[in-house]
Amino acid sequence: MIPDNDFITHEGVPGPTKEEIRCLVMCKSGVSKDDIVVDIGCGTGGLTLEFAKRAKKVYAVDKNINALNITEKNLKKHDLDKKVNLIHEDALEALKDTKNFDILMIGGSGGDLSSIIKEGYNKLNSGGKIVVTSILIETPVEAIKTMKNLQMTVDIVNISISKGKIMDRGTMMLAKNPIIIVTGKK
Ligand code: SAH
Repeated sequence: MIPDNDFITHEGVPGPTKEEIRCLVMCKSGVSKDDIVVDIGCGTGGLTLEFAKRAKKVYAVDKNINALNITEKNLKKHDLDKKVNLIHEDALEALKDTKNFDILMIGGSGGDLSSIIKEGYNKLNSGGKIVVTSILIETPVEAIKTMKNLQMTVDIVNISISKGKIMDRGTMMLAKNPIIIVTGKK
């Protein structure tokens, strides 16, 4: 895993997804070397870079040009830019143009989550997965409902991490925001 402080960040662009969350997302996605991945809402590139290290090809989509610029910088910094195509489009538009893929990562949806899942499902190879990460509690509810209607096998996990801060008196555990990860398998 790439340490959080190894990413270049940009004010106003969210991410990177914290290292421990990235770890679980990689695990739940089941990514392997022949996979084609579409990362919707690449932000800082936290998940894009981790997928790029493990998959055959990654299509990173964001509607915010600053997000694509910062993701590109991070890809170059870690020498992963050749494996990734950057797409400056809204999720639904981008999904219309892509060919079939094995993993659809959704890290941002802008209110179109169920449409993005349904559109993505049509292009998802059999056995493929859709992974949704969220800081809001409404998002997983919508993801679960949509995935169940599509007859997907759904896995839901909430991850609450504390990280140790070493001080003179001892080590204090500082809590991070909980993240909910919903994974649907086709
Ligand atoms: N996973 C990223 C952080 C994602 S932040 C990381 O680890 O760095 C969510 C991103 O989703 C934002 O950059 C936002 O611009 C993008 N986004 C939200 N809705 C979108 C949509 N409908 N289409 C494309 N991008 C979208």
